[in-house]
Amino acid sequence: VAKRGKHGFEIWAPDGTPASRDRLETLEQLRTALDTDQLDVHYQPKLDLRTGCVTGVEALVRWNHPERGLLYPDVFLPLAEQAGLMRRLALRVLERSLRDLQAWRADGLDLSVAVNLSVSNLQDVALPEQVEMLLDAFGVPAGSLVLEITEDVLMSDAARSQQVMAALRRLGVRLSIDDYGTGYSSLAYLRALPVDELKLDRSFASNLTSDERAAAIVRSTLQLSEDLGMSMVVEGVEDAATLAALRAWGCDYAQGYHIARPQPADRFLAWLADQPT
Ligand code: C2E
Ligand code: CA
Ligand code: CA
Ligand code: CA
Repeated sequence: VAKRGKHGFEIWAPDGTPASRDRLETLEQLRTALDTDQLDVHYQPKLDLRTGCVTGVEALVRWNHPERGLLYPDVFLPLAEQAGLMRRLALRVLERSLRDLQAWRADGLDLSVAVNLSVSNLQDVALPEQVEMLLDAFGVPAGSLVLEITEDVLMSDAARSQQVMAALRRLGVRLSIDDYGTGYSSLAYLRALPVDELKLDRSFASNLTSDERAAAIVRSTLQLSEDLGMSMVVEGVEDAATLAALRAWGCDYAQGYHIARPQPADRFLAWLADQPT
């Protein structure tokens, strides 16, 4: 299959990843990227709707490819997953974001950082110890780190991922369920899992001002999170009306292009300095 991909690849397999000829080369390049400084992290702020302050950021991985330019995770995450590179990728992203957080804290900026984990990361029993080492190395309190996991972590090996989650939680790290509302059996595990935050999938935000049903789902999920003692983040907020509705309903946090796009650390800091306090 030859077509022009969204992010510049020219040859694609039917599943949307680069086809075999390109694939080996890209894989080699991805290994190099992991060994060098080509993997970058962009930050998107999380807004506290009660205070209007930015209380945290989400770290989103980017690949500064020497020839192809800036690549987005949809292009290389599937390849990294298949090649068994997700542990290294997660550690890179954690290292980078905790290092940035250390610098921000030294400047008096008290933010939390949220890092995305993949299904295979949650199957990795060595992960909690590595997270602990990184927190120690950068002097970041565990409570300032949020780990975002999607509902499908529980589809592969629920016992093992629950063990990893429990170990992370014992460190004091906070856990968030990403893309909430799109997976399966969400209510069953909400009862059992040690989770601090629900992050409602952006498909609910995109039409909550025009679609009564989407609005009802957002409001009742808010109530549910409150009753369970969890906080709720709505992601994908793209306009002022959506933000206003969420604020009126008592939603805790919001993220989205209307507030700010993900951007490199220096641009994020410049944006933050411009915000009214
Ligand atoms: P996600 O965790 O659900 O991240 C949110 C995605 O939505 C990001 O795309 C972000 O740029 C985008 N976004 C933010 N605000 C808006 C908005 O208002 N409207 C719309 N339409 N989109 C918005 P991105 O950065 O391309 O990341 C895509 C996915 O890749 C992430 O989805 C996450 O699942 C995964 N990912 C990103 N970084 C990492 C990482 O370091 N490790 C792992 N395992 N996965 C990652
Ligand atoms: Ca996320
Ligand atoms: Ca999400
Ligand atoms: Ca609330």
